[in-house]
Amino acid sequence: MSNLLLNEEEKMLQSLVRDFADRELAPRARAVDESERFSWENWQGMARLGLTGISLDSQYGGSGAGYRQVAIAAEEVARGDAAASVTLIAHLSLGSSTIQRFGNEEQKQRLLPSLAAGKGIAAWALTEPGSGSDAAALQTTAAKRNGRYYLNGSKIFITNAEVAESIVVFATQDRSQGYRGISAFVVQPGMPGLTITPMHGKLGMRGSSTCEVAFQDTPVPAENLLGEEGRGFRYAMEILDSSRISIAAQCVGIGQAALEAAVRYAQQRQTFGKPIAQHQAVQFMLADMAAQVHAARVCTTQAATLKDQGLPYVNEASIAKLIASEMCVQAASQAVQVHGGVGYFKEAGVERIFRDARVTTIYEGTSEVQRLVIARQVLAQYPV
Ligand SMILES: Cc1cc2nc3c(=O)[nH]c(=O)nc-3n(C[C@H](O)[C@H](O)[C@H](O)COP(=O)(O)OP(=O)(O)OC[C@H]3O[C@@H](n4cnc5c(N)ncnc54)[C@H](O)[C@@H]3O)c2cc1C
Repeated sequence: MSNLLLNEEEKMLQSLVRDFADRELAPRARAVDESERFSWENWQGMARLGLTGISLDSQYGGSGAGYRQVAIAAEEVARGDAAASVTLIAHLSLGSSTIQRFGNEEQKQRLLPSLAAGKGIAAWALTEPGSGSDAAALQTTAAKRNGRYYLNGSKIFITNAEVAESIVVFATQDRSQGYRGISAFVVQPGMPGLTITPMHGKLGMRGSSTCEVAFQDTPVPAENLLGEEGRGFRYAMEILDSSRISIAAQCVGIGQAALEAAVRYAQQRQTFGKPIAQHQAVQFMLADMAAQVHAARVCTTQAATLKDQGLPYVNEASIAKLIASEMCVQAASQAVQVHGGVGYFKEAGVERIFRDARVTTIYEGTSEVQRLVIARQVLAQYPV
């Protein structure tokens, strides 16, 4: 976030996370990407800083911060290493937030302190092989017998599942009821019939863990039902609405990293007797990147502020996610362009940013899905 938009406390948070990202995340980013492994060092560093519980209530060990602060943390972490921010956002804005918002007191006391401290990690499992954008079409079932729910089915692309202590899972109790049949549960590793398989071969965000999660008559105790039966789909949509602000902030961080790398290189690379930063065509690329990063940051900050003030924010969150994700894909591509041939190789670092950026227009609602949300609002605003 631009400093002018921040209060003193927010500036301190920004500088704390930026310093951590510069010192720890960025120097490790290439090695983590190449090894395609979950980085416990990154996780523990984020936990030490209090980021793993930043938006969780203080009575459960969190800091009780709002979405503006979450956005600051997500942007700065992503600027250092985008993959670390995927891990953090899936844990905080998806998994832990669902427990905090819809869990009962007993569940929150049982589950949140460990997640807030970063001793445990949360995951959130909605997507299935046959249902992504059309999440209400999910097929995983939850059959209630003898005071337990027996889960059958499978989830795909689940961030953090392999390392998670708590996985929020959405399953249907009655397919004929459509979205009204879906409930939310907390599943834990070691439960019978639960198989978690890491998925390898991602284009980017390779330092985040992505998994398949399969259930075969997995018994989930009744005390792990979140909220009410049949309301799970509404919970999922509500969580996605707010989590999009974190993803938008992640995209701003990726765009900022791309911009900074391009500016640094443009000042040092010489062609035709001068630094390429003195060629107007290159300056225009830098200017476009800077303008678009700024615009995306303003949109993100506005959505976060509306959410924190309890005002309607869903449309603004979708706009922020759409603009910021499309921006960071473009900015990362321009950063490669500014680097010329060097940018196509790992050494310069922008190749990783380019690959990491690509998924942001896909997860937590594709750009097409964001446009559907925004179009619905626009059409409702101007009825004929
Ligand atoms: C790295 C990674 C991490 C992820 N982490 C998680 C996670 O932690 N938890 C989780 O539950 N999921 C996760 N996902 C899943 C992600 O949210 C989905 O991939 C995403 O929602 C898109 O769903 P899909 O892949 O099934 O694509 P589809 O829904 O099959 O879409 C395919 C294409 O069709 C378009 N399309 C679909 N419907 C429409 C429509 N009505 N109008 C116009 N266009 C349409 C889409 O925009 C897209 O371009 C992750 C995915 C990735 C890649």
